Amino acid sequence: MSSLLVDNIGELVTNVAGTGDGSPLGLRRDAALLVEEGRIAWIGPARYAPAADRRIDAEGAAALPGFVDSHAHLVFAGDRAAEFAARMAGQPYTGGGIRTTVGATRAASDDTLRATVRRLVGETMRQGTTTIEIKSGYGLTVADEARSLRIAAEVSDETTFLGAHVVPAEYADRPDDYVGLVCGPMLAAAAPYARWVDVFCERGAFDADHARAILTVGQAAGLGVRLHANQLGPGPGVRLGVELGAASVDHCTHLDDADVAALAGSTAADGSGTTTVATLLPGAEFSTRSPYPDARRLLDAGVTVALATDCNPGSSYTSSMPFCVALAVREMRMTPAEAVWAATAGGARALRRTDVGVLRPGARADLTILDAPSHLHLAYRPGVPLIRQVLHNGVPQCRS
Ligand SMILES: [Zn+2]
Repeated sequence: MSSLLVDNIGELVTNVAGTGDGSPLGLRRDAALLVEEGRIAWIGPARYAPAADRRIDAEGAAALPGFVDSHAHLVFAGDRAAEFAARMAGQPYTGGGIRTTVGATRAASDDTLRATVRRLVGETMRQGTTTIEIKSGYGLTVADEARSLRIAAEVSDETTFLGAHVVPAEYADRPDDYVGLVCGPMLAAAAPYARWVDVFCERGAFDADHARAILTVGQAAGLGVRLHANQLGPGPGVRLGVELGAASVDHCTHLDDADVAALAGSTAADGSGTTTVATLLPGAEFSTRSPYPDARRLLDAGVTVALATDCNPGSSYTSSMPFCVALAVREMRMTPAEAVWAATAGGARALRRTDVGVLRPGARADLTILDAPSHLHLAYRPGVPLIRQVLHNGVPQCRS
């Protein structure tokens, strides 16, 4: 059994409370970490580090759990740079451009889609992401949704059926028929490759009745529930998600007091936060020049918050979790510690995972080593390539 020691870590973010620093990040100074068979076998002071077959010297830098990006749309073809440029020149975002990507995705070969997914997953890994959720939602036919998920499942266990992304053009005048297709043959074809079911519950996409129907049959098929909710305006999505026991409601940009109370009320029995996580996607507000969600209000109400990229070719074509951390701190009034927690442990909570987003014996050895002395630099030095090395399942991925 081969072992790997990561030694001389100046500041280690563990996300294990009770290390004495009083922060949710569970910071350890001058630490070392032993990896065996892809898992963490030991964490402790560097001076007590055990012998190992191989050694990585972090040279006093900071390290943290690999980012957990719990919301991304990576299976698509084409891009929408011109739409972005038009938006920056003043056109509003309506979500209608999704249909442009649907056309390009349907026309693309499996190999073209596969190459894009793998390129983007590699791009996220170089920016410190070691777990990424991938949604379908640009196929919108039985065959195209199933193949999107089949390709996504080649690179991630966290795959989400989003046949209810928009009503495709050919069903524009009969949305009830499209919902019937999603709930029937499309779900049946997609479910073998999916862990989750998701709906874009928004005016212009799917209303609460449609969302409830789709999520309920998805649940009956064994999929976990997550939801795009309250992005473009107020609506029933967040409360519906809480009612159905969703792992996460995503966007949460337009919330009223009842939405916040519903989220805060979904308290886990073990007191570890809320059952339904509010996942905030500031890359979308950045890229659509829209008001950011009020993270402070959610945190102060006791809601568990995650950060994710929403990486997609229309409304948020960033794959960078460090960028989202910087936005959350600068624009959403999260502290750097809150933002780093939300991008690691928060994302894991949004995916109901206990083996990632945290560094403790038995957890997956997913580690990001920074070219910086502290996690604070992720927000303090926006746009700077601070990722020095990434371990995924204990295997070194890259050294930039
Ligand atoms: Zn999304």
